[in-house]
Amino acid sequence: MGSHTTTSIGPDAGPEPTLESEGRIARLFEMTSDLLATISLDGHFTLLNPAWEHLLGWTREELQAHPIHEFMHPDDVEPTLALMLAGTHQPAQMENFTTRYRHRDGSWRWLLWSARCDGDTWYAAARDVTDRMWLERQALHDPLTRLPNRLLLMDRARQALMRLNRSNSVVAMLFIDLDRFKAVNDNLGHEVGDQLLIGISDRLAEMMRESDTVARLGGDEFVILASDIENDGEALALAERVVEALEEPFQVGSAEVSMLASVGVSVSHDPEADPEAMLREADVAMYRAKRTGGRGLELFDESLRQEVKEHLKIEGRLRKALPQHELLLAYQPILPLAGGRAVGCEALLRWHPSGIEGADASQLLPSTFLPLAAESDLIVQIGNWVLHSACEQAEKWRRQGISIPISVNISARELTEMDLAERVHEELTYCRLPGRALCLEVSEEAILRDPERAREALADVKRLGVSIALDNVGAGHSSISLPRNLPLDTIKLDRELIQSVDGNKDRRAVFAAAIALAQQAGLTAVAVGIETRRQLALARELDCSVGQGFLLHHPVPADGVRLREVPGAVTSAPWRPLVRLRGSRQH
Ligand code: C2E
Ligand code: MG
Repeated sequence: MGSHTTTSIGPDAGPEPTLESEGRIARLFEMTSDLLATISLDGHFTLLNPAWEHLLGWTREELQAHPIHEFMHPDDVEPTLALMLAGTHQPAQMENFTTRYRHRDGSWRWLLWSARCDGDTWYAAARDVTDRMWLERQALHDPLTRLPNRLLLMDRARQALMRLNRSNSVVAMLFIDLDRFKAVNDNLGHEVGDQLLIGISDRLAEMMRESDTVARLGGDEFVILASDIENDGEALALAERVVEALEEPFQVGSAEVSMLASVGVSVSHDPEADPEAMLREADVAMYRAKRTGGRGLELFDESLRQEVKEHLKIEGRLRKALPQHELLLAYQPILPLAGGRAVGCEALLRWHPSGIEGADASQLLPSTFLPLAAESDLIVQIGNWVLHSACEQAEKWRRQGISIPISVNISARELTEMDLAERVHEELTYCRLPGRALCLEVSEEAILRDPERAREALADVKRLGVSIALDNVGAGHSSISLPRNLPLDTIKLDRELIQSVDGNKDRRAVFAAAIALAQQAGLTAVAVGIETRRQLALARELDCSVGQGFLLHHPVPADGVRLREVPGAVTSAPWRPLVRLRGSRQH
């Protein structure tokens, strides 16, 4: 049943009806499109006007032959009958409420009732508000799973928080992200993906209590709002049950899939808490759960609150970094391991925040600040700047007769959320560079965010003559495989690989397999992270002919890079850059 209100009204007064006026009233009763009825206390229609037949498709005789609850939506029966029972004890009250009635064709009509009990009869007028209710429901529900959407979730959360005044319990929000959903969508198709989402929403709804809300925010993100939770521990236990429930296989079509979920939990006992803030906190906790690897639960606690504060501070500073010229590119040559001229040079971002007391040195490295930039549009602005600066540098070197490709790292968002090829084309044209002056480095992780889009974007870029390198190959994997149908030229073996090969048979096998795969596919393999002579020797022993690492050349500002005649790295001592930026660190 929908909303319900009660209005007190005084006893009937008015002129006594005459025969003539009764006739007119009867005609009105017949003609009006509003639904008018009298109902006996045992719940049967005793009088109905013809409008009922038009609206519900039943004859009046049929409607009168059964108790009214047999026409009602099962979910509405109990609350409506309870309301009518209460109304019989307070005859002066007008009850307003909505109830769904079944049409003869099986569909449901929402009726808005105004009814009053007088003696042994209910006098009622009703209106069809199906269209309005449908629109309201549409606005508040996800069309695929029919679960409440974000708007309704926020409303329910507000109400749940307000009720905290009357209890000692807490309200919990569980932000659920499905780690494998994208792969299912990509490999089994969107239809299977949709079926799976419906299966997931049913399973989540089944395991929750009536008073809780399961909502879908879109994509593979679900949120559970649970009230009457005692404490953090109970909220985490619920999250654990959610993860377990999703691990049970789902049957979708002929396939069986189980889901790995990451769940972030936020909890509040403050009736004044902001539901939007709670949702953000649960989201942040979910990200941390995801970062800690695969299946995970995380509670938004004090340490996470501090971390978020710190991140916001850094992000604020980073926003100013571009206009204040605090970003720089360092360049690290990519070299033949037998010695000789560089075959490429990777542009690596550095940040030198000025005027900040005690800035943590690690903030200068991209691994610290780029993930923060990646959470907003900042990464795209920074990416644009990197591409532009790298192209300008390539042009400068070309004028000096050095024509090696400069490699630029591309983030997931740049790869899948903008027209990368157009952007690259613009920059090449502006700097009057041929496509071969540039190489784009993308990681498998970025590709997996949206493989279809990524493939298209890379194919378009490739048509410009730009080469493509797959970055961080072999990172954290126990075996090697390359994403299919990518227009690759180069694979870059993650630095962790060469650094763990020594004495580790498995890693050595992975390294060797990557080289073999590259050779089969006609790709260049680059061993990144060569720091020692031993590692250099191992890379060569494993048939890798190109490398990049501190032993060969550190990343340094452009004017410190030696591209023409890198000393025989194999024989001589590691070369040190001649020019250092004052105050800058080298990595
Ligand atoms: P990456 O693309 O794998 O870059 C290679 C990283 O290995 C660089 O780290 C480089 O400094 C480091 N490296 C090279 N040789 C050695 C070595 O012998 N030993 C050790 N320990 N490290 C070595 P860096 O500059 O800190 O960059 C980290 C990551 O940040 C990069 O990994 C790349 O994914 C990302 N990144 C850097 N610049 C950009 C950028 O302009 N845009 C984007 N989207 N990402 C960038
Ligand atoms: Mg790279």
